[in-house]
Amino acid sequence: MQASPQIQLDFIAYLQRIFVEGDFSATYKYALLHALADICVEQAGLTNTVSANSGSTLRISHQQLAEKFIELYWQHSVPYSATAAEPMLLLQNMGQQAKILTQLAGLRACGVNSVSQLKRHHDWSTLVKASKNIVKVGPLWRLQKLAGIDECFLYPHQHNTDYIELNAGISFCFRRFYDLVVTMVRNHWQLQIRKNSRNDVLIGDKGNLADFLFGSNRRSLQQAKPLLFDIQAGNCFYCQKPLKLQQDTAEVDHFIPWTRYPNDLGHNFVLAHRRCNNNKRDHLASLSHQHRWLTQNLEQYRQLISDELSPYFSCDAERTLSINHWAYQVAKQNHSQLWQGINQFVGFEEREAVV
Ligand SMILES: [Zn+2]
Repeated sequence: MQASPQIQLDFIAYLQRIFVEGDFSATYKYALLHALADICVEQAGLTNTVSANSGSTLRISHQQLAEKFIELYWQHSVPYSATAAEPMLLLQNMGQQAKILTQLAGLRACGVNSVSQLKRHHDWSTLVKASKNIVKVGPLWRLQKLAGIDECFLYPHQHNTDYIELNAGISFCFRRFYDLVVTMVRNHWQLQIRKNSRNDVLIGDKGNLADFLFGSNRRSLQQAKPLLFDIQAGNCFYCQKPLKLQQDTAEVDHFIPWTRYPNDLGHNFVLAHRRCNNNKRDHLASLSHQHRWLTQNLEQYRQLISDELSPYFSCDAERTLSINHWAYQVAKQNHSQLWQGINQFVGFEEREAVV
């Protein structure tokens, strides 16, 4: 169900106002916006409820938001500076450190190394409960307070339920403008951390804060290489010519590009020549590649990928499939060209040679 052009414009205008007129002393509101956008694309095509006269709405439980918060803050719970006398986390709050970060850092110190390990940890449900509390105590009701006044454009404030319900058309807008929302959120989130003078000593001039906060972990991508090499029988996913693993020119590629959906999902990886990967860049691959990706990662090796990669990455085949559908849906709406091979593009409608 589409949103009217007017709602889409209002959505963009409202977003801009959030960043200008909202009051940000902690980073929780950024996390909430990011979480809402993520959940909307992860549930692409699914709508929990349909209101009688004004299109589709989406119901999102506090539990879902709480789990998203944990995922978003997980990467931030690594000490930013290894050279400081004691490992220090970036402060994400003007007052005391954001509580969720202290908790996550504590679990890291106990040897938990990834979100998927975290989900199997015996403290997981306690952590989710605490995170749910954080969401409910603050950001859920503060996000839509503009210049001190509640303006519930995204969802009504329902205090007596354990979910929120996005207003009609809002989930459509989050899906359509996902890149825009996430880019805005991440820029402002980063600026907020920089603005906190107590972080100066950690950040200094060095390092790339954006990469630290939101980058894909290149080192952990290596973990996926051997499995993908086996699955693809030693060939590049795209050109299907042999890869030379030992020469290190094989790269793990995010099938739905990282810039479109900046989260590492195990089923979204393929192995490709560096040359093919660099040439594909931020483009979506053609429909014939998509077809082979579906067969390889979501049918034939679905279980194997979950078994082998879940210690390192989130491996949720259904979620990955939703992201994939969403990305192609948006690209089609936008008349994007799809990448077929080195410097070769095809449109959605063109028949392409089946590889
Ligand atoms: Zn290749």
